[in-house]
Amino acid sequence: MKLTTLSQSSLQDYVDCARRFQLRYLERLSYPAIESEPALENEKHLQEGEYFHRLVQQYLIGIPAEQIAKLANTVNLQRWWENFLADKDLRGFKDLGGLSPEATLSAPLGDFRIVAKYDLIAAEDGKAAIYDWKTYRKRPRNEWLSSRMQTRVYRALLIRAGAHLNHGQPFQPEQIEMIYWFAEYPNDPARFTYTSAQYKRDWDLLTKLSDEIASASTYPLTEDRTKCLYCPYRSYCDRGVRAGDVDQAEAEMEAEELFDVNFEQIGEIEF
Ligand code: SF4
Repeated sequence: MKLTTLSQSSLQDYVDCARRFQLRYLERLSYPAIESEPALENEKHLQEGEYFHRLVQQYLIGIPAEQIAKLANTVNLQRWWENFLADKDLRGFKDLGGLSPEATLSAPLGDFRIVAKYDLIAAEDGKAAIYDWKTYRKRPRNEWLSSRMQTRVYRALLIRAGAHLNHGQPFQPEQIEMIYWFAEYPNDPARFTYTSAQYKRDWDLLTKLSDEIASASTYPLTEDRTKCLYCPYRSYCDRGVRAGDVDQAEAEMEAEELFDVNFEQIGEIEF
């Protein structure tokens, strides 16, 4: 099947390891190896993370908090939900206009369309805040987050495809901010403003990557073997069958992101 869309996940895979991009998005192989031990614990964490996103979405569309609290039925979910409600800005969101929870935006990018699903875009008075809920067990460094494809794609695409959220006028980069809110670290969100220079840099990079992907005929294995430790395709690349353990994964934020990518992929949008 020909690839027609790109997302932050597929682009991140491409820059991390072209081979992983090939296996996951061109050959569409799903998870042949369990990524990390113990598998069940990670699976549960993933499911809870996904469920937390649903709870927040329901709150933002107006379901009463008391009703949602009853659905937060695990220790983690309960803590995350309490942390969410304790944040007065987030709690107050449901009373504001201009909210677009679970918004999907897309725009042409070279031979492809670039697509992103946002947890929340809050637009008001010519400004837009992009919120992304993260249930990471460790708070990643801001430098690491700022270089992720998600941070680059989400801000740039909102400019490219978000005019309908701003009375028909494209947002200017300086009007946009992206906020990662960590359910485990509610008082320490990561905030990234935007500038015209950053936007140009990001869109140039996305264009370059999409051109490369459109003309690629080989997909080399990454030279950075630490990327293989938690990669589900290890057995295809002869880079080990058994995954690193969870403690190691905790030390490697990339691994956390990999788990995140997997569940994002479940909702990948096809055109
Ligand atoms: S195991 Fe390593 S080389 Fe193979 S796809 Fe994964 S990251 Fe790439």
